[in-house]
Amino acid sequence: MPCDGRPASAGVSRLKPGLQPETGLTLYIVYTGRHKLHATDHVLLEGCPFVVEEVPARAEIILSALQAAGLGPLVEPADHGLAPILAVHDAGFVDFLRQAYAESARSGEAGPVFPWTFANRHIQRKPKGTLGLRGYYAFGFGSPILEGTWTAAYWSAQCALTAAGLVRAGEPAAYALCRPPGHHAAADLYGGFCYLNNAAIVARCLQAGATVPIAILDVDYHHGNGTQIIFYSDPTVLYCSLHVHPDQDYPFYWGEAGERGEGPGAGANLNWPLPKGTGDAAYLATLDQALAAIRAFAPRYLVVSAGFDVAAGDPVGGFAISAAGFHEIGARIADLDLPTVIVQEGGYRLDRLGEYAVAFLTGAASPPRSGGSRDLQA
Ligand SMILES: [Zn+2]
Repeated sequence: MPCDGRPASAGVSRLKPGLQPETGLTLYIVYTGRHKLHATDHVLLEGCPFVVEEVPARAEIILSALQAAGLGPLVEPADHGLAPILAVHDAGFVDFLRQAYAESARSGEAGPVFPWTFANRHIQRKPKGTLGLRGYYAFGFGSPILEGTWTAAYWSAQCALTAAGLVRAGEPAAYALCRPPGHHAAADLYGGFCYLNNAAIVARCLQAGATVPIAILDVDYHHGNGTQIIFYSDPTVLYCSLHVHPDQDYPFYWGEAGERGEGPGAGANLNWPLPKGTGDAAYLATLDQALAAIRAFAPRYLVVSAGFDVAAGDPVGGFAISAAGFHEIGARIADLDLPTVIVQEGGYRLDRLGEYAVAFLTGAASPPRSGGSRDLQA
C-alpha cells in the first residue's frame, strides 16, 4: 500500500477511544508494541554482558508520557509491505537482515548476531554467507541482530510510513514512535542501534516516484550518517543535521561542515557540527540557520529525525538541552508551517525521556507563531 492517503480503517484504531487531548492539540501518534520483539535489555557478546542503551523501555516511557499529556490520537501502523523499504535499501542487505538470526541459529550459534570482522578500506571481495556479511553490512557493534530484530525494524518503518500517509492526507504533522531508530542506517549499512532508515523511507515515499522536494531535519545528538549517505548525490532531498562534532563522538567518519553533497546533490547536504556541552542558546541559534536553509529550499514536506539524546544528562549524548529548549526546538520547526512527519531517533535518559518528548512534540504540534495556514485553521 503506498503512503498516499490515510491508512485503511483496519490499520488505524484509536487505542484509547475517548481520550480528550488536554493540550488542545491534535498530533497523530503511530505506535506498535512489536518493537518489544527487539529486546536489547540483556544481550551477550562472546558470552559476556554487552550494554546496548537502546531498550524497549524508551518507547514505552515516551508513549505513556504522551498519553498522559493528552496528545493523540494514537494509531497502529498499516502494513505498506516491503516495496517502500526496498525503494531505499539494497535487496541483498534486506535479505541479510531478515535471515541473519535464523541462519546463525541453524549453524548452532546461540544468541544475538554480532559482526566478527569489518569491511575495512582495503577489502577485495564481498563475502558469501552470513558470517562474512555481518561485517560487510555493519559498521559497528551497536546493532545486535536478535530473533525479533527484523520484525521490529520492519514495523518501525511501517510506523513511519503510516505517519507519512497521514500527512499526505492532510494532517499538518504526525509522529511515528519508531523503535529501533534509523538515521545511522544507509542503503546497505547498519549500525548505531539502526537497521532500516525510517526517515529516508518516509522521504522516498512522500516523493511517490517523482522529484518532489523534501527536507530532512535531523536534531539527534549524533550525525545521521546513513541519511546523508543515501541522499548525498540527490538534489531533491535537502538533508540538514545539527550534531556533535565527529571528532568528539560517534559516528566519527561523517558529519563535518564541509560535507555538502556531491554531483547533482552538491549543496543539498548541510551539517552543523557542534561541541559537546552545547546548551539551549547556542543550539537554537544554529537551528535557525538550518531552518533558514529549509525555507530557502521550499520543500513540499519536512521529515524530522527527532533524537532526544541532545538532553542534558543523556547517558549516550553530550549536549545540555533543557525541557524548555526541547519545546522551543519543536515550536521553531512548527513555525516553518510545512507538512511534517516526525520520526523518533535516539534519546536514552529514561528518567526524563517522557518529559522531553512531550515538550518537543507539543511545540512541534502547535500552530506556527509567525502566521500561516495553520494559524487560520486554529
Ligand atoms: Zn543519537
